[in-house]
Amino acid sequence: MTNFENSLDFAQSMDREDPLRTFRSKFLFPEHNGKSVVYFTGNSLGLQPQDSENALKTELDDWKKHGVEGHFRAKNPWFSYHEMFKPLLAEVVGAKPIEVTAMNGLTTNLHLLMVSFYRPSGNRYKILCEAKAFPSDQYALESQVRFHGYLPEDAIIEVSPREGGHLIDEQDIYDILQERGDEIALIMMGGVNYYTGQLFSMKEITKMGHEAGAIVGFDLAHAAGNVPLKLNEWNVDFAAWCSYKYMNSGPGSVAGIFVHENHQESELNRFAGWWGHDPETRFLMKKGFVPSKGAESWQLSNAPILAMAVHKVALELFVEAGMQNIFNKKDKLTAYLEFVIEDISKKTNGLDIEIITPKERNRRGAQLSLLTHGTGKDLFDKLTDKGVVADWREPNVIRIAPAPLYNSYEDVYNFGQILSTAV
Ligand SMILES: *Cc1c(COP(=O)(O)O)cnc(C)c1O
Repeated sequence: MTNFENSLDFAQSMDREDPLRTFRSKFLFPEHNGKSVVYFTGNSLGLQPQDSENALKTELDDWKKHGVEGHFRAKNPWFSYHEMFKPLLAEVVGAKPIEVTAMNGLTTNLHLLMVSFYRPSGNRYKILCEAKAFPSDQYALESQVRFHGYLPEDAIIEVSPREGGHLIDEQDIYDILQERGDEIALIMMGGVNYYTGQLFSMKEITKMGHEAGAIVGFDLAHAAGNVPLKLNEWNVDFAAWCSYKYMNSGPGSVAGIFVHENHQESELNRFAGWWGHDPETRFLMKKGFVPSKGAESWQLSNAPILAMAVHKVALELFVEAGMQNIFNKKDKLTAYLEFVIEDISKKTNGLDIEIITPKERNRRGAQLSLLTHGTGKDLFDKLTDKGVVADWREPNVIRIAPAPLYNSYEDVYNFGQILSTAV
């Protein structure tokens, strides 16, 4: 990855050698002045797969044709629809099929999982999380500790970057676990921080957390479909994610959960609903909740088929592409983007931007966060005017994410050209 060149020829030759090159045409790109945009916000809302419309139409047609009978007579019967997601999701997050299910929205799922996994008692009642977590996660954690009668300022321990830095030093997490581990009931962090793009060592954090006697869960909103995950092997207790970012499943689409097989036979408290009931006897409509096997038992409601139809198309593309191919390209494409930005910085005698995302490929996904000094919002607006779709986060960060499934090296080159005229 060291012999990059900031030229169209070079970018196109990389595209020709890209094992995933055919996947770009399976997605629909928005246009700007009659040309496809440079779409670098797959970390916010992934692009629409071509086949989504057909998948949606299949379900609408089955509904038209069968009405309620579609639960059993649809091409993909709705009664067991959610079961198709287990092998697909298992592949994406490194789990066993029994450990995953698609349901609800992300924040809803965080709450449902904390009902089961945040069990404060005695001196052990605190939650350890990263500072500047996504706001929804902060609200979820604060309201959970309040629900149990604690005060957030006491019960939530935030790990911050060190003075003057932007990234969290994982050693600081381990030190807190060493010193105050017996106070911590739960570690609940992002797998990849949404703001800086820092990827945490989930394996190590889980190990250290368990040694301290804590439960360990991750919000994988920015990790699922973006970075290698081995949730089962790492012994992560639980995790939740949304499907509309790197997983391209449509705005607000159905989210997902992971519960480690170790917990599935246990007497965990959970908020129950009929779709979590043992499917054999679900329709006997009897009193008394009998949980189904695995993560499915956390389901409450019958499956949102229309959202799931699109989710399924998107997940099948991941499996078809192969997770390892996606991660390899993620490393290369992100490194190329970094190279192009640094090259332009050199040629223009220094840009007013600093890449705060870690440089090491095992510490980041497909996102670079550009900290802008000075006129960041101006720069962002210029990029937008010239057909780059990126993401602005107050007060001064531009996030760009080249998604390996549909972005090309030529996109990166084009971004660089636009950036150099914009500065
Ligand atoms: C995107 C994102 C969310 C969004 O939550 P929803 O419940 O899907 O609206 C929450 N947390 C993190 C870390 C995110 O990145």
